[in-house]
Formats: sequence, C-alpha cells, structure tokens
Amino acid sequence: MRCDVLVVGAGPAGSALAARLAADGFSVLLADKKAFPRDKPCGEFLSPECAPYLDALGATDAVAALGPRLVRGMRLHGYGVEAAGRFRGLLPRGATAEHGIGIRRARFDAVLVDAAVRAGARWLPRHEFVGLRRGDDGRISGATLRGPDGAPIECEARWVVGADGVHSRIARALGVQRPVPWLDQFALVAHFAEVEAQPLAEVHLFPGGFFAATTVDAGLFSVNLVVPRRTLRQRAAPDWDAFVAGHFDRAPAFGQRLAAARRTTPWRGIGPLAFRTTAQTFAGAALVGDACGYLDPLTGEGIYFALFGARALGDALHGALHSPAQATAAMAAYTASRRREIAPRLAASAALQRALRHPWLVRGFLAAAARWPALADLVVTLTGDTVHPRELWRPSFWRAFRAAAPATAP
Ligand SMILES: Cc1cc2nc3c(=O)[nH]c(=O)nc-3n(C[C@H](O)[C@H](O)[C@H](O)COP(=O)(O)OP(=O)(O)OC[C@H]3O[C@@H](n4cnc5c(N)ncnc54)[C@H](O)[C@@H]3O)c2cc1C
Repeated sequence: MRCDVLVVGAGPAGSALAARLAADGFSVLLADKKAFPRDKPCGEFLSPECAPYLDALGATDAVAALGPRLVRGMRLHGYGVEAAGRFRGLLPRGATAEHGIGIRRARFDAVLVDAAVRAGARWLPRHEFVGLRRGDDGRISGATLRGPDGAPIECEARWVVGADGVHSRIARALGVQRPVPWLDQFALVAHFAEVEAQPLAEVHLFPGGFFAATTVDAGLFSVNLVVPRRTLRQRAAPDWDAFVAGHFDRAPAFGQRLAAARRTTPWRGIGPLAFRTTAQTFAGAALVGDACGYLDPLTGEGIYFALFGARALGDALHGALHSPAQATAAMAAYTASRRREIAPRLAASAALQRALRHPWLVRGFLAAAARWPALADLVVTLTGDTVHPRELWRPSFWRAFRAAAPATAP
C-alpha cells in the first residue's frame, strides 16, 4: 500500500486528521486495530470548545442526530460539600458554546470515521500497527500493519501519524513514551439506566480518587470510577460491582444516585492512565491526541485536545506535504501550538491533581464555591476549555468575571 499519510488510530484525533488531509486532496489511509463501532473507556463528555471543531469537520448535524444530552456545567461534590458551576456567565470573547454534550463514544467516534471516509480517506478497520519502516537515511517511510487475516501488510507513506491513544505503540516504537509515576491511576467505566437525568455532569471527590458521571444519548448514565492502581491489589473479590460499591461510603451522594440504577454494559477497565512523551514530531512521523501523552480524566478535556491537535497537525502536514523543504518549520509550528494551547492546561490539570491530595484544600475550595457560585463557574469554564488559563492574566477577564458573578446562581 502507498499513501501520502498513514494515520494509525481512528479515535477523534486520527479521524479528524484523516478527514482534514483527505479533504485537502492528499491520499490518506486511516487504520484501526478495532472494527467500528467500538467502545472506548471514557467519561463521554465533550467540552463546549469541541463544537467549532465538529463544525469544521461537517459533523455537527450527524452528531446532533445521535441525540446527545446537553451538559450545562458540572456539580462538584466532596467531603460532604457540594457546589455547581456552569459554562455560561464567563464566556470569553469569541466563545461559541454555552454547553458541552454527553454522547456515547462508540457512536461519536463512528461519526468521525464516516466524516473521514466521506472526505476521501481510505478506511482500514481491524488493521493493527506492528512496526515502523525506515529508509536508508533513518527517516520513517511507512509502517507494517497486521490485517484482519493476521497477514502483515507493508504500507509506504510520506508521513506516518501515531493517533493510537494513550498506550501508543508508535510512541513506544519511537522511544519517547514515559510513565508519570506520581499519578498511577486506573479507571472503571460502565453505563447505567434508570438514573434521573440532570443537566450538569457530576464529580464526586474522595481521598485518593473520584467518581465522574454524565448523562449521554438514550438517557444512559455514563459512570467512571478513578482510583490509584494499587487499590486493585487490595481488591478482595473479583466482583467489580462490589468493588465499585465499596467506594460509596466515601461518596454517599453518588451511591444514592445509583441506588435504583441498572447497569447496562459490563465494567471496562483501563490503566495506567498517565503518560507523557519527550517529542511529538520526527523525520517522517508525528504523534497526535493521547499518543502525545495524557494525564487524568478529571477535567474531561481529552477529546478537545485530540481535536485541537488534529487541526494543528493537519495545518503542519498540509505545509510539509506541499513543500517538503519546509517540513521542519511546519512541524516546529505544530509543537509550538501544542505548547501554547495544551501544555498550560496540562500544567493546570497536574496542579489540580496535586491539590486533590489535600482534603482540607478540597473541602475549603468546595465550601467557598458553594457560597460564591462564580468561583465554581470559573473552575468549570477553565476545565471546559472555554477559557484558556492565560486569560487569568488579563485584567479584562477579571472585569468580566466580576460583572458576571452576581448573575450566576447555584
Ligand atoms: C476513564 C476515562 C475517562 C475520560 N473521560 C473523558 C471525558 O469525559 N471527556 C474527554 O474529553 N476526555 C475524556 N477522556 C480522555 C479521552 O477519552 C481521550 O483523550 C480521547 O479519546 C483521545 O482521543 P485519541 O483519538 O487520541 O485516542 P483514542 O480515542 O484512544 O483512539 C485511539 C485509537 O487507536 C486505536 N489503536 C490503538 N492501538 C492501535 C494499534 N496498535 N494499531 C491500530 N490501532 C490502534 C484504538 O483502537 C483506538 O480506536 C477520558 C479518558 C479516560 C481513560
């Protein structure tokens, strides 16, 4: 097989990138080891800032047709205190959406693959990445895939993109993947029926972990439990329902939410969750989305990072494919845009993770946010990606914050 770009992994990052480059007229292969639709362990909450990216992909109507639930903010619980933050109120200049959405990943991701195929990408489901190919000069010149019948398939590509998620084999093959030892977490996810739908996503914090949940299409309740991986070793019985219920005494409000619920999908686990990479661009290859690294699902920003990264890498590859002499500069621009847009958010997320280790801090913050809802709005808006952390340095942002504060309600 021959192509301009081989994209490995058809999550939001890979499909969005494949759609963009195929629409630009390049020959694109989009390969995934799974047949679609496939599940992906996720909180299934798309932050408000995803909306313009879906628009640009021409996927807004197809996503709307799936019946996503609007998510207007987040209810934060912890240590007996509760606060609610909404996305409205603190929207910065040019912001487009006042709400995020809750949608099952199996259906959402399939819509993005359709967008890539409609744009002209060639779709290769059940094609697993096995290894990179290099030219005599050491430049990456393609990849070996394993097809549905198990036979190896050699694929020559001017560029290979690793969009193969948080446990990226391409990042590992490139020697740039590193664990984040201080954040060794594990997540369990499942869907539930018969839970009262609410317009706010919810997070229930407890020492060492949290429950996060969102109502998604079909009125299902998408539930995540995130705990340190070492708690798995302390697990007494191989009964995941009992394991999850064992955390309700530390998050009683969440236990009550699930009291009459019926689980509709098996528990699925994923971990470790946190990785970083030491480089994202290479001669003939690049990483995008979770393959570049991931920290923690608490702030629910991963899909936005994937869509943002796909657009930025799409711009860079467009330039590099048109004029190979400019490839180095184009890839440097991709790295710089990631550093500008994503790195500060990851730094904020890391600071939040560290703060969560101090119950007195969490309790104090939630109590303040319960009294002063604009504070909860601020946190939710920051983690919903509608406000970039750099806005916090602008006096105009704080003027808008003060003006909006009285209008917000718990
Ligand atoms: C528990 C949990 C909850 C989360 N909740 C949220 C949330 O509510 N909101 C949010 O925005 N983000 C959330 N995230 C993060 C979000 O799921 C990811 O950031 C997002 O899916 C990244 O998209 P991606 O395209 O980079 O990778 P993925 O969506 O992981 O897609 C990678 C694709 O690569 C394929 N693949 C992997 N290996 C190979 C291989 N060797 N060969 C071929 N194909 C391969 C996989 O099958 C998969 O389809 C959560 C993450 C976790 C773990």
